[in-house]
Amino acid sequence: MNTRLDPVLSRIDADLDPALERLMTFLRIPSISTDPAHKADCRTAAEWLVADLKSLGAEAELCDTPGHPMVWGKIGSGSPHLLFYGHYDVQPVDPLSLWDHDPFAPFIEERETGKVIRGRGASDDKGQLMTFVEACRAWIAEHGTLPCTITFFFEGEEESGSPSLIPFMEANKDKLAADLALICDTSMVSPGVPSIASQLRGMLKDEFTLIGPSMDLHSGHYGGPALNPLREISKIIASFHDDQGRVTVKDFYDGVEEVSAEQLAQWENCGFDEKDYLGNAGMTVAHGEAGYSTLEQQWARPTLEINGLWGGYQGPGSKTVIPSEAHCKITCRLVGQQDPDKIRENLHAHVEARLPVDAKVVWDQDLEGSPAAVMNTARPEFEAARQALSDEWNREAVFAGMGGSIPIAGFFTTILGLDSMLVGYADDDDRIHSPNEKYGLKNFHKGIRSWARILDAVSKA
Ligand SMILES: [Zn+2]
Repeated sequence: MNTRLDPVLSRIDADLDPALERLMTFLRIPSISTDPAHKADCRTAAEWLVADLKSLGAEAELCDTPGHPMVWGKIGSGSPHLLFYGHYDVQPVDPLSLWDHDPFAPFIEERETGKVIRGRGASDDKGQLMTFVEACRAWIAEHGTLPCTITFFFEGEEESGSPSLIPFMEANKDKLAADLALICDTSMVSPGVPSIASQLRGMLKDEFTLIGPSMDLHSGHYGGPALNPLREISKIIASFHDDQGRVTVKDFYDGVEEVSAEQLAQWENCGFDEKDYLGNAGMTVAHGEAGYSTLEQQWARPTLEINGLWGGYQGPGSKTVIPSEAHCKITCRLVGQQDPDKIRENLHAHVEARLPVDAKVVWDQDLEGSPAAVMNTARPEFEAARQALSDEWNREAVFAGMGGSIPIAGFFTTILGLDSMLVGYADDDDRIHSPNEKYGLKNFHKGIRSWARILDAVSKA
């Protein structure tokens, strides 16, 4: 019995219909941020959020930027002070012909596995964002206030590269000051398994051109004596990994930590279906580093991937050419404390040391790199939230790695000095960014209840 929390949870159950109605209204606004034709709609969505936050009794305002507006709001008192982030913009809907319904006429669909909310943004990120707002609403309805202080921070450019985000954060550090950031824009590790992100992999992009002869050559006149850049680049690329799948670039693994036994045990019981995951991509085994599980390879190990490789003649028929150039695009996923700048330096040295006489290499100069975001799961709020999620979902919640990157978590650290906690209730098959996006009604309902529990737990932690 938790006399503070229980009435809030009951209130959430009783008020699910109006909460859903509010989400439907929000989903009807076609706030596609990348399309200038929807500029006014983005503003409408931001204004709708400001009004909704004010209806909670929050101080709230729309903040203009050179792009789409930010929404800022604040409510509650006492500690901790949490900064909640979500985004109100959505992805474009084309190709429209692949939708079974109007993307901006949301509705509830009955499926064998339960009811789902259909519509663009249902999962990414309007439905997820509203789980938090509704949890706050229920707390306020029951207790007249929140158990802690909340600052709301919603952007409208997440799906279009967030051009205004960094300048806005730089200019509004005081307004965004808090103890911990909460981000609701991620999936559960598998259906019904609540998860908190423990690490998001970083990224390093690179590209090079290997230049050999001064022009494309006739393979009859020059074949034999000629330096062939395609042959040479193939050798270099083959040298990036050993036969155990380990990257051979010098010091590549500096800053990579092994996953703790406790964490591995959580992952082993997280419901991840390896066969399904591999099978969906036409594979029967994982092809990464030997000695690491599929999940470790995806969440906790760095990679060096060749994303593109080209050169020479690629049209129909054949052409007896020895090309003068060959090209390669590379990205690395980074983990732990790996330093993208040092890796870039060593990668360049690795390639340059393997160039044959008469060859040279030119690197693309404009490609960025960002380190991994490692969450500070040792903070007491993380364990408190994990317990709260376990209580709601009736199974142990997991600190899960994430294979991809979520830049906002890094910006919260570098600009605001904040740790982030990422909790989301989406399912991997929500078809975010694709036609027929959905969000489970149960995910929405339990998502609201989860946040209510987390607010209770972290305000006591
Ligand atoms: Zn999103």
